[in-house]
Amino acid sequence: MKILSVNAGSSSLKFQLYDMPEEKVLLSGLMERIGIGNSFYTIKVNGEKIKKEKELNNHEEAFKVLVEELESNNVVDSLEEIKGIGHRVVQGGDYFDKTVVINQEVLSKIEELSSLAPLHNPAAVTGIKAAMHVFVNAIQTAVFDTAFHQSIPKENYLYALPYSWYENYKVRRYGAHGTSHKFVSERMNEILGRTNTKLITCHIGNGASISAVVNGKCINTSMGLTPNAGLIMGTRCGDIDASIIPYIMEKTGMSAKEIDNAINKESGLLAISKKSSDSRDIEDGIANGDENCILAQKMYVRRIVDYIAKYYVEMNGCDAICFTAGIGENAIDTRRDVINELSSLGIYLDSEANNVRGKERLISTKDSKVQCWIIPTDEELMIARDTFKLL
Ligand code: AMP
Repeated sequence: MKILSVNAGSSSLKFQLYDMPEEKVLLSGLMERIGIGNSFYTIKVNGEKIKKEKELNNHEEAFKVLVEELESNNVVDSLEEIKGIGHRVVQGGDYFDKTVVINQEVLSKIEELSSLAPLHNPAAVTGIKAAMHVFVNAIQTAVFDTAFHQSIPKENYLYALPYSWYENYKVRRYGAHGTSHKFVSERMNEILGRTNTKLITCHIGNGASISAVVNGKCINTSMGLTPNAGLIMGTRCGDIDASIIPYIMEKTGMSAKEIDNAINKESGLLAISKKSSDSRDIEDGIANGDENCILAQKMYVRRIVDYIAKYYVEMNGCDAICFTAGIGENAIDTRRDVINELSSLGIYLDSEANNVRGKERLISTKDSKVQCWIIPTDEELMIARDTFKLL
């Protein structure tokens, strides 16, 4: 059975077609600059990469072009072969704790939740509606980034703020990257050969979050109402003293929108290194003795270690710490710096094993009290798996 995994951005469309249950990728690609002129797309099929320029005025046109490519590359004989389409949706609020088949009610709820994810949910709705027009016979599902975190207990998701903010405005921790934390924790349990486990999953990419997962269920996560909580990220500050915001607004006259831009796009590694939001540039800076990059890395690692220690205590121990996403999978030095800070918990790095990028591997020593692993994430596959299961 063929399942299409879709991630629609406001002007982009990322897709991957799978043959399930074999989980074989038949075609993957990305369409960019949809609706804003000079659009183009890249497609990987039969080991070949195709890049084409093509005016795509909206997501429906983008899907139609995808269908043409599927047919001209003989990936499908007819559209009917694609039985399910799984859509990535960033915010599911407290309505959705699992993947669901999309109907009118689900679509309305995703639209309603746009106020909590103004950049992301409207794009997902656009993608869903366009897919429904083009793939009329396929079952469409919504796979929520927040769903895996819905098992978090109330004492961990509530903020100590006026209770009416929670009741009237839904202010609470929702978390993000749930599809990735779920994928990684399931894979880790598979490796450990059991499900009664305590795991700390570190999704560290440009955006970054850490989750505590007990017996396959998430009990805490570092992101909050929005993805700007917890860890220091490429351009996001993560946890700060909330009173800094009114203080700077008063001092500078900055608006809420300007502050939002500063804490989301001008902070994090970029702000402290004064150089770049990309950990590769920070690594280069450190190698050249750049003091700002050295400081940025120290702060970055400190915050990750704080969360690992917090969740270790909260779970009363841990079986495995998993590193995933761009930095978690590839940044050898960041993994080293984090694990070296954990020696007081009896956690030790195997430096030789750690000298690898993007491969699933055990990177702790035999005598380490907690296993440390690199587990490459695959959110698209998780979306396809969930959709296949529902079908
Ligand atoms: P993601 O958001 O998961 O795609 O991760 C993107 C981030 O991964 C980039 O901003 C880089 O900082 C980081 N990254 C990717 N490749 C490497 C690498 N080889 N070494 C260090 N960092 C990397």
